[in-house]
Amino acid sequence: MHGTPGAGPTPPPALPTDRLQFAMPPMHDSVDDERRHRKERLAGALRIFGRLGFEDGVSGLISARDPEYSDCFWVNPFGMPFKHVTVSDLVLVNADGQVIEGRYHVNQAAFTVHVQVHAARPDVVAVAHCHSVHGRAMSALGDLLDPITQESCAFYEDHALYDAYTGVAVDAEEGRRIATALGSRKALVLRNHGLLTVGNSVDAAAWWFVSMERSAQVQLTAKAAGRPLLIDHKLAVATREQLGGDLVAWINYQPLWQDISRSEPDLLS
Ligand SMILES: [Zn+2]
Repeated sequence: MHGTPGAGPTPPPALPTDRLQFAMPPMHDSVDDERRHRKERLAGALRIFGRLGFEDGVSGLISARDPEYSDCFWVNPFGMPFKHVTVSDLVLVNADGQVIEGRYHVNQAAFTVHVQVHAARPDVVAVAHCHSVHGRAMSALGDLLDPITQESCAFYEDHALYDAYTGVAVDAEEGRRIATALGSRKALVLRNHGLLTVGNSVDAAAWWFVSMERSAQVQLTAKAAGRPLLIDHKLAVATREQLGGDLVAWINYQPLWQDISRSEPDLLS
């Protein structure tokens, strides 16, 4: 005889949820601990970007605000492969782009943009910008992400187009215009250039970049195959409210962090 529902042995009781592990952003008592944490996550994010192929020559920068000197920023060393970066390779730069701590030069053109975004957005801890392929392709079209998937809805009415291209030489004024175009949003499409994302943690900024690049890939693929169906305005807003916050980005990023920190522990040296 097959059992009927409820006829078998009674299963053990459910465990209390407070006994189950769920990672949340750590809080640090000292500025030194917070600084170390941000640097570890920055080195990890660079390695992940390297793995995902976001690097193109010497372009690309992720910057993390120092927790003590709020107008100084930790960045990747100029010309070093993202996949090689360790915590001790990171460079601390002041608002004028001068190196305060570290052994390497920094990408001054990229930093000029980052520092203006940080200045305009005190809520932001990290800024990510790379010349990833699908983001760059979408930027060449001057397109924004359409609300066509759950993931792209996280960016719905929360990203913008910087509708200008003025060459590689970036001055402070252009950095300010880019920061103005970003406004209070989480991401920008820089026309004919690529993507830029921000977050209230390194992990959130890195996740938004990963997710935006993938969303660009999905949109380009879908448009090449046909006409994607749009999610309607109300549902797109509701989905963004559910999935578009920096805490959700942080949570989504943890599998990437756990993978890179476990498989490449030398990044912490
Ligand atoms: Zn760039």
